[in-house]
Amino acid sequence: MGSSVDMKTYIDEAEAALLHTYNRYQIVFDKGEGVHLYDINGKEYLDFCGGIAVFALGYSNEAYKSALKGQVDKIIHTSNYFYNVPAIEAALALKKASGMDRVFFTNSGAEAVEGALKAARKYAYLKDGTTDHEIIALEHSFHGRTFGALSVTGNPKYREAFEPMIGGVKFGKMNDLESIKALVNDKTCAIIMETVQGEGGIYPATSEFLEGVRALCDANDILLILDEIQCGMGRTGTMFAWQKYGVKPDIMTSAKGLTCGVPGGAFLMTEKVAQNSLKAGDHGTTYGGNPLAAIATATVLSEYERLDILGNVRVVGAYLYDKLEELAAKLGPSVISGHRGVGLMQGLEFTSPVGPIIERCMSAGLVLINAGPNIIRFVPPLVITKSDVDAMLSILESCI
Ligand SMILES: *Cc1c(COP(=O)(O)O)cnc(C)c1O
Repeated sequence: MGSSVDMKTYIDEAEAALLHTYNRYQIVFDKGEGVHLYDINGKEYLDFCGGIAVFALGYSNEAYKSALKGQVDKIIHTSNYFYNVPAIEAALALKKASGMDRVFFTNSGAEAVEGALKAARKYAYLKDGTTDHEIIALEHSFHGRTFGALSVTGNPKYREAFEPMIGGVKFGKMNDLESIKALVNDKTCAIIMETVQGEGGIYPATSEFLEGVRALCDANDILLILDEIQCGMGRTGTMFAWQKYGVKPDIMTSAKGLTCGVPGGAFLMTEKVAQNSLKAGDHGTTYGGNPLAAIATATVLSEYERLDILGNVRVVGAYLYDKLEELAAKLGPSVISGHRGVGLMQGLEFTSPVGPIIERCMSAGLVLINAGPNIIRFVPPLVITKSDVDAMLSILESCI
């Protein structure tokens, strides 16, 4: 199909019609197969972005595709005035995978965060009847672009023009328990954090920090909200990143890999929070948990088990880690100043902006993204193999 002239034409049309809120790469993708993407000229790209940590199963999972196709033929929406079987199956599978007790399905990650914040405020409201509760979030965090989610996002650049945010949000520092303790008072209703920060630059919580935050929450009846939208769904080698730490949240958010491409998300809570927060009439959504998104989640979770996705993440993630360490050692600290992350969620920090490297990789047929100006982020489909890692590294190295 077409020549590269067509690509330019499409891009010009896009820029004439779409609101320019993204500086997009100059590529129009057409289809995906396995862990590869193809643009409208048929050029192949190895995908180490995965639709931003979304396409955990890659692009050719037959069970996933046929479940969606079958659901399209049956019914794709009923509303939450009624029950539907895919949502029931998805909720039960998600409870089992997480050990949480209650699920609310949303259409996106940001909406999951909104729901989690509302649940926390309601919990505190039912305790003391006041409406001036505070939330502690972390610097460098990312929780989404809607007002509540943006209010707890630790990047002032994203917030400034849209002030005022929701009230009562304070920011502490990742892996600095004292900075959190200093913000706690009797108005604090929740601490929200990503177990591994994603957009902010791939910063995992240390065990001491997460355990310390949990203890702080327990001592003060503060709810711990863990945002697992990016680091969850197996990306770090356990189904949810917190499971590795043995620290359980009171409320958890999920999205991205949860539906593997169909818009969707969820927030989950313990029975204790459920019994003491959102009640009938307190929260709702037209589309959330509709049969199409729900069958995606149910199928994703069963495919994770069938394909031992977690096992693959551990093996290939460790391999990627070693290979990136080798690359960092080879190029030295004057080029690569840091390497962080776990499983198939890793970041390589450079001493200068990575934009030009990423552009060259795209030309050479490798899709990579950044997390902040100097960090290349590796969030590929969770089905990649060691040879895909080798292929990625040879292109990356030639482009640095
Ligand atoms: C992507 C992301 C969100 C927002 O999800 P959307 O589906 O884009 O609204 C929230 N939190 C984290 C940690 C994310 O990575």
